[in-house]
Amino acid sequence: MDTKLFVVQDIEKDAPLLQEAADILKRGGLVAIPTETVYGLAADALNPEAVKKIFAAKGRPADNPLIVHIAEFEEIYGLASQVPESAKILAERFWPGPLTMIVPKGESIPDITSAGLPTVAIRMPSHPIAREIIRRSCPLAAPSANLSGSPSTTTAQHCIHDLGGRVDAIVDGGECRFGVESTVITLAGEKPRLLRPGAITLEELRDALGEVEMDKAVLSQIDPGERVSSPGMKYKHYAPKAKVVIVDGDSESFLRFLNEQTGEGIFGLVFSGEEERANKPCVVYGENDEDVTQAHRLFAALRELDERGAKLVYARCPRKEGVGLAVYNRLLRAAAFEEITL
Ligand code: AMP
Ligand code: MG
Repeated sequence: MDTKLFVVQDIEKDAPLLQEAADILKRGGLVAIPTETVYGLAADALNPEAVKKIFAAKGRPADNPLIVHIAEFEEIYGLASQVPESAKILAERFWPGPLTMIVPKGESIPDITSAGLPTVAIRMPSHPIAREIIRRSCPLAAPSANLSGSPSTTTAQHCIHDLGGRVDAIVDGGECRFGVESTVITLAGEKPRLLRPGAITLEELRDALGEVEMDKAVLSQIDPGERVSSPGMKYKHYAPKAKVVIVDGDSESFLRFLNEQTGEGIFGLVFSGEEERANKPCVVYGENDEDVTQAHRLFAALRELDERGAKLVYARCPRKEGVGLAVYNRLLRAAAFEEITL
């Protein structure tokens, strides 16, 4: 199929393009849209035929449920069978923004959207383009707009690379602000539990709700066949073609380690400035001690490593708290959980 590209620079001036994107979605088509986290591959969340196309275009396993995106808080009542008090507290603090809440699902949600689970994931994005498209269309199921298993997309160019010819349209709204997918918290169990870290941190969630547990799958590998709370966490993820190994150590010891390695196609995935002291080619992902910049750059850096033909990548380890926990969680999956401590 021909994929249309809509370059949106101004919400008002480019309103006809946003309307065209919304019309495609209302007709059951697929449109990649920018959000403040990563690009999303959107379809009408309440139309099973439309949602089916998302799974096909991404090659996404059918048991991996989708996040439903809304533009106003009140829409949650049409999608959830129950809205816990904790959801209202979190929405008040963090919506619109990079936080997804899992709540008991309402009857309007087709099984394919929730992958047969009795719950539904809901988020209200803050990106003006995403919000305007939702307003002009309907609640949108939108997983990350990448081929399943690849790093998520943070620019329209990444979307064209992965999904050109497989979707009806791509809306180019520039680079995504945060660069990692939303924080996912479940409010459907006994206690709130973090399923996926993101730009809204565990510390911030605890500040809002008191006790919040962290799911074991955030930092450890799930055994095949093991039951998981968030099906997405059991799959291979974010992986470039190169083998990635995380190296936990300070700047000095990391560089000493990298410089001692020998072999073909070895790259460093490093923090800004370190590339100058390395004797191997390097790709930079953010600043040392600035996890927000690391999150912003990580997926683009993983894609760049592929473009440059890296075979084996030694990656600097981010800090394991704050937004760094989100960066570490993604990097762990890109590295298939392989980590060396110096
Ligand atoms: P993505 O769409 O790529 O951002 O991935 C969505 C993530 O949310 C995946 O890890 C899913 O497993 C998770 N998710 C979506 N819906 C649910 C749900 N009802 N219960 C638990 N996890 C969910
Ligand atoms: Mg994804």
